[in-house]
Amino acid sequence: MVELDAPLAPLTTLRLGGPARRLVTATTDEDVIAAVREADAAGEPLLVLGGGSNLVIGDAGFAGTVLRIATTGFLLDGTALELAAGEVWADAVARTVDHGLAGIEFLAGIPGSAGATPVQNVGAYGQEVAQSVTEVVAYDRRAGEVVTLSNAECAFSYRHSRFKADPDRYVVLRVRFGLQDNGGLSAPVAYAETARHLGVEPGEPVALRAAFEAVLRLRSGKGMVLDAADHDTWSAGSFFTNPVLTAEQYAAFLALVAGRELTAPAYPAPDGCTKTSAAWLIDKAGFGKGYGSGPATLSTKHTLALTNRGAATAEDLLALAREIRDGVRAAFGVELVNEPVMVGVKL
Ligand SMILES: Cc1cc2nc3c(=O)[nH]c(=O)nc-3n(C[C@H](O)[C@H](O)[C@H](O)COP(=O)(O)OP(=O)(O)OC[C@H]3O[C@@H](n4cnc5c(N)ncnc54)[C@H](O)[C@@H]3O)c2cc1C
Repeated sequence: MVELDAPLAPLTTLRLGGPARRLVTATTDEDVIAAVREADAAGEPLLVLGGGSNLVIGDAGFAGTVLRIATTGFLLDGTALELAAGEVWADAVARTVDHGLAGIEFLAGIPGSAGATPVQNVGAYGQEVAQSVTEVVAYDRRAGEVVTLSNAECAFSYRHSRFKADPDRYVVLRVRFGLQDNGGLSAPVAYAETARHLGVEPGEPVALRAAFEAVLRLRSGKGMVLDAADHDTWSAGSFFTNPVLTAEQYAAFLALVAGRELTAPAYPAPDGCTKTSAAWLIDKAGFGKGYGSGPATLSTKHTLALTNRGAATAEDLLALAREIRDGVRAAFGVELVNEPVMVGVKL
């Protein structure tokens, strides 16, 4: 289906931004590939759209083709799962739990499509898709052919992958996962908050459904499960990634907070780096839950979510994001980086 001058705001969870010059909705892999080839042959800018839950679309919209991936397919063979890119991720997770399979249960309730999950290596509550993705089938725009990438070839890291590093090259068609049949048990509970909530020690498994339901409860309490009636969920999820500081940056940060009676969360990260918490930095820099008085404010449930209270423009949201980024830099010398993909705008 092709529409001209099509509004994009309703196709995003932030519900803001301008229209697409051309919007193509594709329901089969063949249609996806044909639309990509047509846009590439015409030298037309292309934006691939899944559930629109990790996008900030500028108020001018997108002067090119937006390709909305609406393919379907949930193929389970033993513990091997293949999802079409257009499958709704949260529904697919629920179905794997119904089948008694572990591996993606802590990723319950995350909005968006299955095809986008490898793009930013979606993760929550100590689990990320990098742990269970076996292969990604994608259309390689540079080679002009369908390729199958192994887990290693996806180059997953924290909220990052080969697909995010090279955004104009791959269109994900299918994602394959290796799940586990643990006799009705979850993967080990990796996150302290979930472990506390479930009354177990980190590292222990729990009943699969108990893990799934605990995650949904915790997420709902933070406005991280979509609910059209709740403006706290009119967001793109976490707006900033947790900063990963080099040893020198971390030492400088500690020197800056010394004497302020502040203890920032700190987690070991690869290459001697330290990951700290963006939510903590934002809060301690003076931007508490609900901060802001305009049409865009922080969520009243979570300092990391920037939200549209109903009539916000992309510029309203970005003005708030810049204020917070600059405030955190001034208070802690740490540069926050946006997690959502910016379309036609910059932070
Ligand atoms: C309330 C809320 C809570 C959230 N919680 C989490 C969380 O806990 N953890 C987390 O990691 N994220 C979270 N997110 C962010 C978001 O849900 C994920 O990043 C999700 O995977 C985005 O999927 P999407 O289909 O909506 O992608 P879109 O927003 O449509 O697109 C995001 C990016 O992926 C690209 N893309 C989409 N589909 C494809 C494809 N098939 N092939 C190639 N590129 C593609 C797009 O071009 C764009 O660059 C949250 C968002 C919201 C609104």
